[in-house]
Amino acid sequence: MELRSLEDLDFNGKTVFCRLDLNVPIKDGKITDESRLIAALPTIKYLLERANKVCFASHLGRPKGQVVAALSLEPIASRLVELTGYEAVFFADYLNEPYDQLLKQMGKKQFLILENLRFFPGETQNDPDFVDLLLKGIDLYVNDAFGTVHRAHASIVGMPEKLGREKCAAGYLIKKEVDGLSKLEKPSAPYTVVVGGAKVSDKIKVILNLLNHANHLVIGGAMAYSFLKFKGHTVGKSRTEDDKMELVNSILKFAESRKVEIHLPIDHVCAEEFLETSKAQIVDSVEIPTHLMGLDIGPRTQKLYADVIKNSKTVLWNGPMGVFEWDSFNEGTHAIAQAVASCTGYTVVGGGDSVAAINKAKVSDKISHVSTGGGASLEYLEGIVLPGLKVLMK
Ligand code: AMP
Repeated sequence: MELRSLEDLDFNGKTVFCRLDLNVPIKDGKITDESRLIAALPTIKYLLERANKVCFASHLGRPKGQVVAALSLEPIASRLVELTGYEAVFFADYLNEPYDQLLKQMGKKQFLILENLRFFPGETQNDPDFVDLLLKGIDLYVNDAFGTVHRAHASIVGMPEKLGREKCAAGYLIKKEVDGLSKLEKPSAPYTVVVGGAKVSDKIKVILNLLNHANHLVIGGAMAYSFLKFKGHTVGKSRTEDDKMELVNSILKFAESRKVEIHLPIDHVCAEEFLETSKAQIVDSVEIPTHLMGLDIGPRTQKLYADVIKNSKTVLWNGPMGVFEWDSFNEGTHAIAQAVASCTGYTVVGGGDSVAAINKAKVSDKISHVSTGGGASLEYLEGIVLPGLKVLMK
């Protein structure tokens, strides 16, 4: 997929609208993790240095078309002032007062930043009137919000569609994500896909699509117990999706037809109850006794999975191997993080939990591409042409 890039546009003398993903966690008016702001800085600085006027916009949380004071972008605007050395003109009432005049009045070392786009229902509804409002006084459009490119919202799809693709471009973050993920479309073999997490049903589409190229499918997390149960093993009180067994069957059948080797846990870390304080017990067998539930992969499984990963030329990992939030059940996830980091091939880690595990193990610099796109990354890997990317294609 070839996207229009910042270098394809001439920003000189132009007024630019830039859609960012500034959806950072905020507690009591303070940003608690600013990694998304830092990640957006290269595009922000590129535009500030070149364009005549820049208007930045983002969503924050899910206010569902209502003004929610706790989800105001104001604290983010203040932090951007510190990070850029520019002055922010914060504007909340753009529904009633177009900002084209304001843009004209703005000085050299200033930028406009809009209040949370999702305070207005027109954003998620891709309302044409809202699109027109956002485009008032705008010459060029840049999108760098990869995390929302799977949403056909006004600021993601409506604006570039109306403006025309020759006046639009993707920012550096989108480029980086698309470059990182698209390498998986032509992987070097052996290609290992490691999936974990709660439910098979959440990841069925992505797993089926990845099986087209994979050589190994390594399964952990609660979803592994649905596979083991389907194969006739005893899984005790482990979490399974008994009404989704046809999905498990479809994955196994498709994998068999594509000659993809499936790896399932051969031992487990179990507990009697689903509680953080539960005592962890190793069950050194595939079979789990009836009074126990599997909450992590066991030590022999860790080694088996690590060997498959280390011997791969391409690895994609999405989803934890167990209830990694609880210290007694996080070793499996940690072992996978270390194994992916020590693989010398091309490695991609995606999904909030796996990325958190990589960061906790302090190995993110040893991963070829850490995908922070969440739902957008998963849909990309399902093979869908995402609406927000389609409008930015060359
Ligand atoms: P997902 O969002 O689908 O990637 O699932 C992540 C969640 O799955 C995490 O909150 C884990 O605690 C949970 N999880 C992983 N393994 C298990 C397990 N064996 N039993 C119950 N929950 C699990």
